[in-house]
Amino acid sequence: MFLVFFGPPGCGKGTQAQYLQQENGFTVISSGDLIRAEIKAQTEFGKQIEESYKTGKLMPGDTVLSLVQKVVATEGAKSILFDGFPRTVSQATAFENYLRSIHRQIDAVISFSIADNVIIDRILGRITCADCKHVFHVSSNPPSIEGVCDNCGGTRLERRSDDTSESVRQRLNEYHLKTEPLKEFYKSKGIMVGINANQPINLVRRQVQQEIDAISGKSKKEKNIGTYSRC
Ligand SMILES: [Zn+2]
Repeated sequence: MFLVFFGPPGCGKGTQAQYLQQENGFTVISSGDLIRAEIKAQTEFGKQIEESYKTGKLMPGDTVLSLVQKVVATEGAKSILFDGFPRTVSQATAFENYLRSIHRQIDAVISFSIADNVIIDRILGRITCADCKHVFHVSSNPPSIEGVCDNCGGTRLERRSDDTSESVRQRLNEYHLKTEPLKEFYKSKGIMVGINANQPINLVRRQVQQEIDAISGKSKKEKNIGTYSRC
């Protein structure tokens, strides 16, 4: 199954993606993580985008697409969750063409809706484990022992360098302007499911799980129908 998590930065989709990775065996492809890895490794692309990344601008679409395609090609037939990708209608269209060429498709898009002021509070309190990338929040989801990652025991819990209020506002503007139109794109394909992300993390988690169960039930049924019709 190929899933897309869609929503503004800070809507909690990264946290929900971690649950799906742990409990449903999804491989999570986060374009943000791919980009940060390129910057850290100071590759040619990493150097090019470092400055615009820190100020919250959208990354050049073609390069992000090719980074994602590279991982899809190595992951093969596994269940993949795309977290924060695609980000624009043109990226989504190019990605759809790529998937068609390898006989795959996006099975569902889970769209997280949330108010801007809730997002700003969430992002500014966010801390990430430098070792395993697990995400915590200083007030709503703190680590059990301060400064220690519950997931891997690491002690390098850091704020992301792009998590400043100026950068958050910039990212939200970019989102409303360039990414939000994707909602209509996926809605028109009839594969979008909406989630109210203003709710507490555990409620969102339960709702996401119910949707995934419904979707996987549906795709199994479709596969069976396909088999019968070939008999
Ligand atoms: Zn960790």
